[in-house]
Amino acid sequence: MRKGTECLYAGYAPGNGEPRQMPIIQSTTFKYSTSEEMGALFDLEKDGYFYSRLANPTCDMVAAKIAQLEGGVGAMLTGSGQAANFLAVANMCQAGSHIIASAKIYGGTSNLFTVTMKKMGYDVTLVDPDASLEEINSLFQENTRAVFGETIANPACVVLDIEKFAEAAHSHGVPLIVDNTFATPINCRPFEWGADIVTHSTTKYIDGHAMTVGGVVVDSGNFDWDAHADKYPGLTTPDESYHGIIYTKKFGKLGYITKMVAQMMRDLGTCQSPQQAFLINVGLETLHLRMPRHCENAYKVAKFLKNHPKVEWVNYAGLEGDKYYDLAQKYMPNGTCGVLCFGPKGGRDGAMRFVNALNLISIETHVADAKSCVLHPASHTHRQLNEEQLINAGVLPELIRLSVGIEDAEDLIEDLDQALAHV
Ligand SMILES: *Cc1c(COP(=O)(O)O)cnc(C)c1O
Repeated sequence: MRKGTECLYAGYAPGNGEPRQMPIIQSTTFKYSTSEEMGALFDLEKDGYFYSRLANPTCDMVAAKIAQLEGGVGAMLTGSGQAANFLAVANMCQAGSHIIASAKIYGGTSNLFTVTMKKMGYDVTLVDPDASLEEINSLFQENTRAVFGETIANPACVVLDIEKFAEAAHSHGVPLIVDNTFATPINCRPFEWGADIVTHSTTKYIDGHAMTVGGVVVDSGNFDWDAHADKYPGLTTPDESYHGIIYTKKFGKLGYITKMVAQMMRDLGTCQSPQQAFLINVGLETLHLRMPRHCENAYKVAKFLKNHPKVEWVNYAGLEGDKYYDLAQKYMPNGTCGVLCFGPKGGRDGAMRFVNALNLISIETHVADAKSCVLHPASHTHRQLNEEQLINAGVLPELIRLSVGIEDAEDLIEDLDQALAHV
């Protein structure tokens, strides 16, 4: 199957007389006739369901669809993108581990790594995604266990040179985790460029309609944990909480994702619900139609803004002349995403006038759904920062993050034009 067909059919193949649409298995628990059968499930000797915190058939079908779209061997849904990124790292690391992460990543992930996980005993070094291979290589420590970046950074719109980061990670015997939320598997499959683990906030384009918060972790099955067994004891030595199972021995290429379900989800419980998974699947069915439209609209809007006298600058990797245009052409030749950033004239004040004057495009703490929206980080998500801190975080005071939806582009441009008149 090609990607568009996979969006519809992957993960669920009904038998004769069974529901055409993926069923919602709204049950916390599952019934067995013998004690032995149930016991075999607990021993991970047999495949099956017993409690929906660990696994639920609807969630698994959606995870399988996303795994197929990304070209991975397995996936697990989580209750949010935050949970996905946390689990992706925690499943391979432990207190005392060091992570190298791109400095241009989603603010929530940056807080997770540099504040909350720091308190849990992790150590994080942030690196400019444009740093040279040599500079990135120089940041590895004895205890470095993972490298992390975003295909297209939210909100900075920076494109990650996935091959460069993969090379640095692999030459030090550690995997690369890529958050592929903005590109989606329709526009980029990071595994093809050397990433080992992919995460998503499914809350964004995968859902696509601002209905459900969710996340997913996808395993390529490519990283050889056993070749670096000393670094990854959680995967390569017996798990006493699971009768001494060694995940990589017992499950081979599925070791990482099986551990994530059997141990991380069991213990941390940040699971997705079957109702929400159903909605995520409805979103997935049209992902291949929506992404090209988001990109087409964003391109038209970016071009309009670029030529507007009230606009200082525009960052959109899909636009010719953008700093990241060449990288975007390499990794996302069919389009990047619908999110762009720009700076209206007049600094922080000009940006505030602009967002207040919008009619059709709404102010929302969201991105990447069917309806266009804007956020002014200096007044909203980053309002606790002063001008200097804003600039250090890569967020200029006038920066507007515009998430271009799938409306008629002309209506969006008219709204932007009248709002810019107030700047
Ligand atoms: C939104 C977002 C997240 C966090 O996801 P939630 O579903 O809001 O928890 C992580 N990474 C990126 C790139 C995001 O845009």
